This record gives sequence, structure tokens and C-alpha cells, in this order.
Amino acid sequence: MGSSGRYSRRTGSGRNGRRGRKTNIAWEKARAFFLENRLAAAGLLLLLILTAALVIRAFVTGGGHRVNVDASQPDIDVQLLDINPYSRPGIESNGITGIVIHYTANPGSTAQDNRDYFNGLQYSQATSASSNFVVGLDGEIIQCVPTWEVAYASNARNYDTVSIEVCHPDESGEFTEETYRSLVQLTAWLCVKFNLTEADVIRHYDVTGKNCPKYFVENEDEWEAFKENVEYAISRTPQEEGE
Ligand SMILES: [Zn+2]
Repeated sequence: MGSSGRYSRRTGSGRNGRRGRKTNIAWEKARAFFLENRLAAAGLLLLLILTAALVIRAFVTGGGHRVNVDASQPDIDVQLLDINPYSRPGIESNGITGIVIHYTANPGSTAQDNRDYFNGLQYSQATSASSNFVVGLDGEIIQCVPTWEVAYASNARNYDTVSIEVCHPDESGEFTEETYRSLVQLTAWLCVKFNLTEADVIRHYDVTGKNCPKYFVENEDEWEAFKENVEYAISRTPQEEGE
């Protein structure tokens, strides 16, 4: 109890000492109050703990990633790939029954980098790969392949899904807030466009078991929260003019 007094003597500051005594008096008053009202204090403490738990829960279960977007069409920078056998075969899809989310697995690369890589495969012939959309580190969206055409991203589901590759700043695979917002809006918009729900949104992992998109495979809660955000965005679909 005398520690603040000793502290003030050591520093030679009388002001600190007075403040310390005031604090002590306030503390003693609070202590006396709680001792006299144990039941009320216990109730108050319980209330505080519950409130804290709710706040923490809101943040942990996607609350940290609770975004307020609707399903309106986001800004899309259309830069279609050249038709070529390695990234844009020019084959019409069978009808879209799902949206597949991917991560680029190339930390720090931009949407433009990834789009250009896909387009360059016609020359390098290194592999077959592409996606309908790439969402960048600043939330920018580049479209590489029309939604009615096959892209080479999701293996057995290439013919009946729209694929979205998502950029990420580091090895964790976690998306930036800007990227995340754009991804939710783009996914929700595509769901509305193809008459799908958040239940039709899947990970590359759900097709082949590949660790893609890494952050959503390794953090199942974040994946569920993402789908909840998509559901919420769909529910906020802008109504037609005049209904
Ligand atoms: Zn993937």
C-alpha cells in the first residue's frame, strides 16, 4: 500500500505522492464498496466477463474479418488472356454450379503479375494454369477469362465453376483487408449472377485436397467466417430500381 509513497520519495516528486494518496483513497473506497456489496460485485464481474467473452468471440469468429459489403458488381479490370492451349482454351463452360477460391502461393505477387504469368504460359509452355479472376493485394480485381469459359485452376471442377485466384503478402497465405473485402464482394456478386448461395463456394482444397487457399484450409474458422460474410453480402443485394 505504501509503495506509491516510497516511489514518490525516491523520485522526489510531491505531486506523484499526492496523486498516489488520492488513488489509494479511491481504491480503498472501491474496495469497501465491493466488500459491502459482494453479490452485486460478483454479478458485475460476471457481466464484465460475459461482455468480454462476447466481444472476443465476435472478433475471433470472423469478427476481425467482418466486412460490410453488398453483392453489387465490383470494379473489374478486364484483361482477357489470349486464347491458347495453356491458359485460355476458349472452351465454353457447362453451366456454373460453384465458385472456387484459390491463393496464388506466390507471396507479394500482384494481380497483374499473376495475370501476366498466365498469359505468358502460351510462350513458356511451362504448365497449364489460369483463373477467371485474380484479386490483388490492394483489392483490385483483374478478369483473365470470361465466366462462361473454362479456366485451368480447379482440376475436375474447371468445367462447371468460376475460379478466383487471390494474392497474399506473405507465406501465411492470409489476405489483406482490402483483398478480403474485394473477394467477399466479387464472390457474392458471382453467387447472385449464377443463382448460387454461399454453400456453393468452395476451396480448391475441397476439390483435390490441395492446401489451397492455405489460410482458409489451415484456419477452418476463417473459412466459415468468409462464407458468412458472403452470405451477408448476398442478403444485402441491391434491389432493382422501383423494386
Ligand atoms: Zn488452388
